[in-house]
Amino acid sequence: MVMKIPFVDLRSQYEQLKPQINARIDQVLEHGAYVMGPEIAELECQLSEYCNVKHAITCSSGTDALLLGLMAYDVGPGDAVFTTPFTFFATAEAIALVGATPIFVDIDHRTFNIDPERLEEAIRRVNQSRKLRSRGILPVNLFGLPANYDQIDPLAREHALFVLEDAAQSFGAKHGNQASCSLGDISATSFFPAKPLGCYGDGGAVFTNDDALAEKILSIRIHGMGQNKYDNVRIGLNARMDSIQAAVLLVKLGIFDDELKKRRHLAEAYDQCLRDLVETPFTPDGMSSSWAQFSVLSDHREIMIGALAEQGIPVQVYYRIPCHLSRALGHLGYKPGDFPVTEEVSSRIFSLPMHPYLDDGIAARIRSVLQDVLHGVSRTVG
Ligand SMILES: *Cc1c(COP(=O)(O)O)cnc(C)c1O
Repeated sequence: MVMKIPFVDLRSQYEQLKPQINARIDQVLEHGAYVMGPEIAELECQLSEYCNVKHAITCSSGTDALLLGLMAYDVGPGDAVFTTPFTFFATAEAIALVGATPIFVDIDHRTFNIDPERLEEAIRRVNQSRKLRSRGILPVNLFGLPANYDQIDPLAREHALFVLEDAAQSFGAKHGNQASCSLGDISATSFFPAKPLGCYGDGGAVFTNDDALAEKILSIRIHGMGQNKYDNVRIGLNARMDSIQAAVLLVKLGIFDDELKKRRHLAEAYDQCLRDLVETPFTPDGMSSSWAQFSVLSDHREIMIGALAEQGIPVQVYYRIPCHLSRALGHLGYKPGDFPVTEEVSSRIFSLPMHPYLDDGIAARIRSVLQDVLHGVSRTVG
């Protein structure tokens, strides 16, 4: 029988942290402030310090973090927000939810992130057509690798656009000396359990150095509150994080840097073992990924996935259907062929098991499976 390994292993982490996590959850159960309890301020203080951003505002999910960011800029109908089609659906969904129009821009084939040159073309095209008002750029740091903010920021300044960083996968990553979650005018992250820093349910956070935006986000998070919850000065959301989730994150944040090192170590082992068999991830100089995923490309993806599954090694495909081809956004009128790089990557990419509790011996096991696949393929071709 083959030993099955989990794609993401939350059990091993819990075994290691059980006494601390249980104690902190017990404290919440005892004090009874289940919503906006003291853990929220404590976590926000630590998050702001960790990312070196003045304001860290916890919230109910990564999706709501994006919504809070867009609502803080009053983005709405008639507005254009530039983003990547190669992302989790929530990115584009948040733009559509506030009534604005996502304008997709193809990706760089090496980083899988929004291509700054195509971004500039898209901004000029939208501005010339005058049908929509260009408002902001929503870059995604896919798989944990920051987008190219050195080229995105000057474009944003030139065209007076905001930058909303989708850091849902990149908490812990670095762009030069700057931490992810400090790379946008507003940044949004997710603490969904499978993200690099995850809680035990849904959770997220919004970051900004701008006092006025922070104040607005705090208001929108609780029903557009003014002086208090019953003084409603704008239309908002119920987008708070639960105290219990904050308690869990406070414990996990304590070992997060160590976990990041372990992810980095596994990524290096994968790269060493697999680079001659599949296309392994590219990390530009000066950047460091949080390794939310280790994603590789191959023309033989489906056979490889089948062979790995037989050996008890699970893989995932992020993302088979790029956002511009999703049925939900069909009304935008995009069609196959619109974003050739994204579509090619979608057809060849898959992600290997990646978490801090995985022994790097997995890399050699995967190598042997993929070698067999490639031998088989060359025999049938040759
Ligand atoms: C997970 C994710 C989100 C949404 O986060 P949730 O906490 O699941 O709402 C948004 N954007 C990207 C790129 C994500 O991976």
